[in-house]
Amino acid sequence: MIPSRWLDFLFPPSCHLCQAPLRNGRYLCSPCRETLPRVTSPLCTRCGLSFDGTQPDPASCPNCRDRSYAFDFARSALLARDGARELVHAFKYERRLHLHHELATLTAEALDDERLSATPPTEWTLVPVPLHWRRQQWRWFNQAHEIARELAKLRNLPLHRALRRTRFTTQQTLLTRGQRLQNLQGAFRLSRCEQRRQLLRGKAVLLIDDVFTTGSTANECARVLKEDGGVEKVVVLTALRG
Ligand SMILES: [Zn+2]
Ligand SMILES: [Zn+2]
Repeated sequence: MIPSRWLDFLFPPSCHLCQAPLRNGRYLCSPCRETLPRVTSPLCTRCGLSFDGTQPDPASCPNCRDRSYAFDFARSALLARDGARELVHAFKYERRLHLHHELATLTAEALDDERLSATPPTEWTLVPVPLHWRRQQWRWFNQAHEIARELAKLRNLPLHRALRRTRFTTQQTLLTRGQRLQNLQGAFRLSRCEQRRQLLRGKAVLLIDDVFTTGSTANECARVLKEDGGVEKVVVLTALRG
């Protein structure tokens, strides 16, 4: 018996949401996985906000009104509520790192969006939203990078840590949109590695993060990738839509 199987034998894994016993390194049972709230049409073609069937005109999206984005569009897999929110919270704040595989598999569902499948998979490069080293030291890991790494394995896509966070920013959650933009100005730069920078020139990037809320962080990353890195196309792909 290999060591990981011994561990499963001694500490049988269970579903993170309902505690049903599981096998084969899984952490979500099928019923819990199937009932997670998906982002479905109709949705905003720019920021990916789900309209719940009540607001069919994308031009009237409350998040996008009077805004322009540096990214082409954003797409999330799950709505940030119920079990989906609980999964990301446990992963990120309770350091349940083993949930990265489940989250990446769920995020991969959003790749079936027809606007994404129009670009051949071989042309995409995954770039995770970076954390400042101080926050990463405190959290032990970068949640966006962990999801991107699993996604790269699942879909056989290249991954480049093409961005770095040069400024430590306060938590965005309590700020207004205007304050967020100010808080993020100059917070991201391209990687110092010339080879990584060259690999991205003229390419299509899938910018990976755990949550998309107002899009301010993604927008600033996309701006740097396009303006400084010569990236052709940036699509934001996240596990949750806040
Ligand atoms: Zn379950
Ligand atoms: Zn929108």
